[in-house]
This record gives sequence, structure tokens and C-alpha cells, in this order.
Amino acid sequence: MSHTAPAFLAREDLNRLLQLLQGQGYRLCGPQVRDGTIVYDHLADTAALPRGWRDTQQPGHYRLQQHDSPRYFDWANGPQAIKPLTFPAREVLWEARRRESGELEFIVPDQALEKVAVIGVKACDLAALALQDQHFLQAEYQDPGYLARRKGLFLVGVNCSRAAATCFCVSTGDGPAIEQGYDLLLDELEEGFLIRSGSDSGAVLLAELPLEAALPGQIDAAEQQVQQVARSQQRRLMPVSPGSLMQQRQHPQWDDVADRCLACGNCTQVCPTCFCHHQQDLLQLSGEASEHQREWDSCFSESHGQLAGFQVRSTVKQRYQQWMTHKLDSWQEQYGRSGCTGCGRCMSWCPAAIDFVEEANKITGDG
Ligand code: SF4
Ligand code: SF4
Repeated sequence: MSHTAPAFLAREDLNRLLQLLQGQGYRLCGPQVRDGTIVYDHLADTAALPRGWRDTQQPGHYRLQQHDSPRYFDWANGPQAIKPLTFPAREVLWEARRRESGELEFIVPDQALEKVAVIGVKACDLAALALQDQHFLQAEYQDPGYLARRKGLFLVGVNCSRAAATCFCVSTGDGPAIEQGYDLLLDELEEGFLIRSGSDSGAVLLAELPLEAALPGQIDAAEQQVQQVARSQQRRLMPVSPGSLMQQRQHPQWDDVADRCLACGNCTQVCPTCFCHHQQDLLQLSGEASEHQREWDSCFSESHGQLAGFQVRSTVKQRYQQWMTHKLDSWQEQYGRSGCTGCGRCMSWCPAAIDFVEEANKITGDG
């Protein structure tokens, strides 16, 4: 019932959608150019969207260029997906304070629901959000902070109109077309948008917009566009059957990649599905209070391999193996699918220009 056929929204009427969302109490978050990249940040109106900007990406390379185009979403992705909106880089889980009586008091910060509407989420990042849901919202172990933030999200997806050279979502089955997980879905055309709803709350908003009937030519153009994005993808990740990469631990390519890898952890920080973290207590100098914080970590960091007094991953080779075998192989056993959605960020933001797809294909290809 909530999934509707596409209608046409003129480009100048996109602001009306943003106003309606604000009227419903949503804080807007959308893509914008910051420091030479596209990131999701607080959005005032459509004037802040990256109109005419396109990205060029290769392993170790990310550049933006402005074009004479009216489009807002004609880019592939930036260094962050929407992971920080539900799983922030640093979060206080609880605080401890000493009362005047000397007793300790433990306080869990209020997890009040905040309504956030995210404008322009791409297919690979919606797929990543679904994976994060699996991790943080498993029936027995629901993360209360994640749950509160997740419940408040209203998601306006946009089908990709352009793939970067690092994109390979066709191989992982996560794009470029968005199939589910959205409240509203846009296809951007030269003259405006096709728009459809994917939830009841999306359908309610859609009814308030000044829409026109979509022309058959516009529907056809939107379909052709997304098919062209799929055809243009240059990288193909070979299938990894469960357990197969784990059996390749003696493959010589691991030594080759470990020689080049800096163990900087950039690939894990930009990955929309990575969830490694550590916890620490931040004590006040007075000794009267402390914050128990959760902070993003990486399987590449030395401290993350330190377990119960033992270092379980002392070499870069072991850490790279942990990253790739978990992501592509053992994740399948854990979550029923691989942990990669084909966004390509781990390649673009790798200072050593390591090509994740090429490395995986070499290791799985001739075992
Ligand atoms: S492993 Fe790389 S390509 Fe796959 S989801 Fe993570 S960052 Fe994207
Ligand atoms: S693969 Fe690249 S980004 Fe990842 S830890 Fe190694 S050098 Fe850093």
C-alpha cells in the first residue's frame, strides 16, 4: 500500500519536501561539499546540496569537480556513509558520579528519540544500514542508543546516476537501484525528479507535494539511467563462498598486500558496515566522576588485537587477513551475507592505494 508508482516532482519543488519534513519535526541532513569531499551534514535547504558536483575516484584518489549541471546527486559517494548518524564515532554509554554520601551513582544518558530526515541516501549505504541493523538490533542484544537513533530516521533514497571507478555494488547485489529500506525514493533527471514512497510515512508526505503524472519517457529515462550505471562499473568482485577465503590463509598474496598496507585503519573508518569499537573510562582529575565511552576502533589497530593480555594479531598480515576474511567470508556465517556493499570507499581512502577487489580476487581466484 505504501509503495507507489513514480510521480514527477519539479526540481524547484524539492524544497517543498524539505519544508514538509521540517514541519513534521525532522532535522534535515543531506550531502554537501566540505573540504573537497561530499559529506552528510545538517541541511538548511536545497541551496546547500552539491549542485553540479561530480567525483572522480580511484584507489588512493578522490577529487571533486564542478560541472554545468543542475543535478544535486550526480556523484557516487564521499568518505562517510550515514553510519555516524546511528553509530557515532564517540558515544558516552554511561557516567559514574560520587554522591556527597560517598556512594557511587551510575547514570545512563537519555536516549531521546531525535527525528532526522536524511536526503539523498545511495543504495550501497542503505544496504549497509540494513547490515548495521542486524548487528545492533539483534533480538537479544539491542543497542538502546542505536535503536533510538534508528527509529528517528526518515530516509529519502536516490538511485545513482553515476558510478565512480571504485564502485562495484553490482557484484555485491546492493545497487545501483534501491529496492527497499526507504521512505521516499528519487530518480534524478535533467528536468527534475521521479519520486515514489516506500513506507506509510513516505506516502503521507507524498500526498502533500505538488506532483505531476510521470511521463512514460521520464520513467524510461530513469530506468535507462540506472542500467547505465550498472553497465559502467569497472570492478567485479568474484563470489566468495562461505569458508573459502579462510582456507586461503597460506596464499602468498597476503604477504604482498601486508608489505604495502600501513595498518592505518582508514579503510575500516570509512567502511559503512564496520562496527569495531573499544570502550574506555574518561576520569575527571578530581576523581569524582567518569564517563564510560564507546569509540570507533579498527581491526588494524595494535590495541584491538590485545585480548586478555595476549596479542592475537601482532603482524600487519594478520590484521589485513582479519579485515578481509571477516568482511567477505565469516560475516556470511554471522549475518547471512558478506559485509561488503560495494561502495569502494576502502580503496579511494587508502593512502597506499590498495585495491580491495583486486586483492580479494587474487586470493580467491587461484586457490
Ligand atoms: S569493504 Fe570497502 S567496498 Fe565494501 S562496504 Fe566496506 S568500504 Fe565499501
Ligand atoms: S588497507 Fe589501506 S587504508 Fe586499510 S589499513 Fe592498509 S593502508 Fe590503511
